Amino acid sequence: MALHVLDEANRCLGCKKPMCQQGCPISTNIPEVIRLLKAGEMDKAGRMLFENNPLTTVCSLVCDHEKQCEGHCIRNRMPSHDPVHFSVIENYISTTYANKMVAGPAPKNGMRAAIIGSGPAGLTIAVLLARWGYDITIFEARDKIGGVMRYGIPNYRLPDSVLDDFQYRHLELKGIKVRTNTEIGRTLTIDDLFRDGYKSIFIGAGLWKANAMHIKGESLGNVAFGIDYLANSKAFRLGDNVAVIGVGNSAMDCARTAIRNGARHVTCYARRDESCISASAYEVSYAKLEGVGFRFCKAPVEIRDDGLICRDTVKGEDGRFTQVEGSEKFYAHTGVIISVSQGSESSLIQTTTGIDTNQKGLLTVDPSGRTTRPGVFAGGDAVKGARTVVEAVAMAKDVAVAMDEYMKSLPADDAADPYANIPVFDTPTSDVLGEQDLKI
Ligand SMILES: Cc1cc2nc3c(=O)[nH]c(=O)nc-3n(C[C@H](O)[C@H](O)[C@H](O)COP(=O)(O)OP(=O)(O)OC[C@H]3O[C@@H](n4cnc5c(N)ncnc54)[C@H](O)[C@@H]3O)c2cc1C
Ligand code: SF4
Repeated sequence: MALHVLDEANRCLGCKKPMCQQGCPISTNIPEVIRLLKAGEMDKAGRMLFENNPLTTVCSLVCDHEKQCEGHCIRNRMPSHDPVHFSVIENYISTTYANKMVAGPAPKNGMRAAIIGSGPAGLTIAVLLARWGYDITIFEARDKIGGVMRYGIPNYRLPDSVLDDFQYRHLELKGIKVRTNTEIGRTLTIDDLFRDGYKSIFIGAGLWKANAMHIKGESLGNVAFGIDYLANSKAFRLGDNVAVIGVGNSAMDCARTAIRNGARHVTCYARRDESCISASAYEVSYAKLEGVGFRFCKAPVEIRDDGLICRDTVKGEDGRFTQVEGSEKFYAHTGVIISVSQGSESSLIQTTTGIDTNQKGLLTVDPSGRTTRPGVFAGGDAVKGARTVVEAVAMAKDVAVAMDEYMKSLPADDAADPYANIPVFDTPTSDVLGEQDLKI
């Protein structure tokens, strides 16, 4: 860590109207956390962080701080333009305090809720509902929890150990069950979950379908879609001169991962000019430092085994970019990563009645995350489109309150167990083996 935590904390002015807090999507009480740290009350500071944001450690590493808390810090307005780097302070407090978080499950209230998807939205809801006494099961299609935090954001920005620690402290110790390798909408559906006694269901399935560009060559063997590449980049063989189509944050992750996988040349292509880069300034500067090149005003029209054909674009007076017919050029590359955007997958929705989506395939919800089917709630990217970790957490906090209200409003479940009085047959393992007369 380059900055000394206490030096940073000492630079905080403890503003009465903290601009940093206003810039934080989940209103972290930054001056109070810093005050507690300086007063030697690290545990209180840590508790405050985790109570407000169960993913505080993740956020300290991956939030776009220069646009949020640090970008809003009043010290930016001083001639020295030196904001307090709260991300460093948050990371120190949250990782130190996390080691003390060993409390067991809260007393149960007898109601069961299901969470589909273990990205930041699903994890936040799971932690909050478990805190309030609900019996929680998370269903996750992949083999580990974390969603984009594990399978999208590269390890060099967010180490897996942060998510593994989260799983132990916030899920296992709290009695939250996790059923991995289980994609709801295939063998098990939302109707099956209601049948099995889940009173309420949260969908936090994110956006996992790479959007194609619909140009010739996308299916060639030297091409990968960004979200697939990041999930398991070592599985791809793209050679040592890689083109990345896109200049968003995901594209920067693809480019920097390709460099780490041994590519000697990586070039990002954008349809528009430099002012249209959507990746954060930090990510772009790191990519440049690591040797990533950029070509602007290039619209890819065809991918080949040995490179990419692009047409030049020009900006019109209305600010729109149009392609210049006849300006095609060939750019030699050994592999191409397409990282333009992601959309939602529909199997979950196709197997569920009563859940509406909009034209983009995003789930339709009210401001509290209620879908069009009673008892089913949704949040995160599956609702808002591609956003950020902290925004998924912020929305999930509101949805958790609505789910709690909904479940408490349900009539008491007094249906008798039809098998309450059947005989209980105990089968010791030794008996079974004996009966079978196994010859080993
Ligand atoms: C490459 C990349 C880099 C990013 N970098 C940053 C960053 O640095 N900072 C930042 O703040 N944001 C970043 N983001 C955005 C951020 O990660 C997302 O906004 C956030 O993860 C969305 O959270 P979510 O919970 O809605 O969904 P996700 O994180 O997408 O998680 C959804 C989970 O649901 C599971 N799932 C899907 N369907 C089913 C099903 N039917 N049954 C069971 N499980 C299912 C998926 O496997 C996944 O684990 C990045 C995004 C990408 C793609
Ligand atoms: S705006 Fe900056 S100086 Fe003021 S409380 Fe927040 S971090 Fe401290």
